Amino acid sequence: MTLPRTASVVIVGGGVVGCSIAYHLAGRGVRDVVVLERETVGSGTTSKAAGGIRAQFPTETEIRFSLEAIKVFERFEDEFGVDPGYKKIGYLFLVADPADLRGFEPRLALQRGLGVDVRVISPEEAKKLVPALRVDDLVAAVWGPGDGLAGPAEVTNGFARRARERGVKIVEGVRVTAIAREGDRVTGVATPDGALSAPLVINAAGPSAAAVGRLAGVEIAVHPRRRHIFFTEPFPEIPGPIPLTTDRASGFYFRKEMEQVLLSPGDVEDIGTDFEVPVDRAKIEEAVTKAVHRVPVLEHATIAGGWAGLRPLTPDDHAILGWAPGVAGFFWIVNGAPSMDLSLFDPGRFARGRAKAHDEGPDAE
Ligand SMILES: Cc1cc2nc3c(=O)[nH]c(=O)nc-3n(C[C@H](O)[C@H](O)[C@H](O)COP(=O)(O)OP(=O)(O)OC[C@H]3O[C@@H](n4cnc5c(N)ncnc54)[C@H](O)[C@@H]3O)c2cc1C
Repeated sequence: MTLPRTASVVIVGGGVVGCSIAYHLAGRGVRDVVVLERETVGSGTTSKAAGGIRAQFPTETEIRFSLEAIKVFERFEDEFGVDPGYKKIGYLFLVADPADLRGFEPRLALQRGLGVDVRVISPEEAKKLVPALRVDDLVAAVWGPGDGLAGPAEVTNGFARRARERGVKIVEGVRVTAIAREGDRVTGVATPDGALSAPLVINAAGPSAAAVGRLAGVEIAVHPRRRHIFFTEPFPEIPGPIPLTTDRASGFYFRKEMEQVLLSPGDVEDIGTDFEVPVDRAKIEEAVTKAVHRVPVLEHATIAGGWAGLRPLTPDDHAILGWAPGVAGFFWIVNGAPSMDLSLFDPGRFARGRAKAHDEGPDAE
């Protein structure tokens, strides 16, 4: 597709976030929406995700966001005409430290108050859910049966397809190399294929969000951190489905993917990049050691492959959503105001010293 010369809105990045924004904007009647993706739709960090979907978050804003998102997954096939592979397999957090369990308590109360089914269960009950677990060193587990997973590619392609049907232009293979400004106002973007003028530019560049922000002279506190996922040869010794199960003490998590087991060491590493993500083979050993401790039968499994991706983390672990500070037109709001309080996600919170400290709850997926 050739690059249009003008747009009402340019979205930088065709991952799950950019495609969802495009679909929803077009649904709200916004015309001439253009998504610019430097590679192909969904090929960024979206293609590396474990697909987990949870309402087990620490703040009211995030829990409400997730509950709204879960409604979209529940009706996804009707709305988008594709099966997203959505399954409520549940999230299970295994807890070995009583202090850690106490750390869960405020968020569990908040989640329950908002209607989330989340329970503290005994190690024996956890073993009933996942018989392969070693539980003799656990004090409890936190079980959210309403959590689940969906296929990142299926969901992203569903958004992209319906967005196109609504008139959105999604242009692949085009990298945004500059963001044009007149004074404090954004006026468009530049690419190697030419310039595109637009009064609104949305930064949906995932792990590259900070780099794209700098093109407009804006500091965005997205800090990409590498995480690995490995998968086994078919392993019927652990029959599925099982919950997405996280060992809080080590960060290790696993779930079934068809006949295989997906497992991650739960690593969080700054490798100084927002694009290239090499696999560190030493992480296989780390993942296997953690896995065999928690799920001894995995000693008999064979690792068949794996990948690494960048998680677009922020210093307080909350999303960044809102107008870029000091630049008009870098983001958007159709109605002039959001329909719920989004101050938790305010992009200016770090510069103003108003970011809340990262809580001690689970660093999932
Ligand atoms: C190992 C791993 C497991 C994960 N598991 C989960 C999970 O279970 N559940 C969960 O919710 N999340 C999970 N995540 C996080 C999740 O993958 C991301 O939060 C999500 O995919 C971000 O989507 P995005 O659209 O913002 O980013 P991306 O998918 O990276 O999309 C951004 C796009 O912008 C493009 N782009 C960047 N710069 C430019 C430019 N200058 N011009 C044009 N295009 C540009 C990129 O090519 C990319 O396609 C996981 C991440 C990793 C790495």
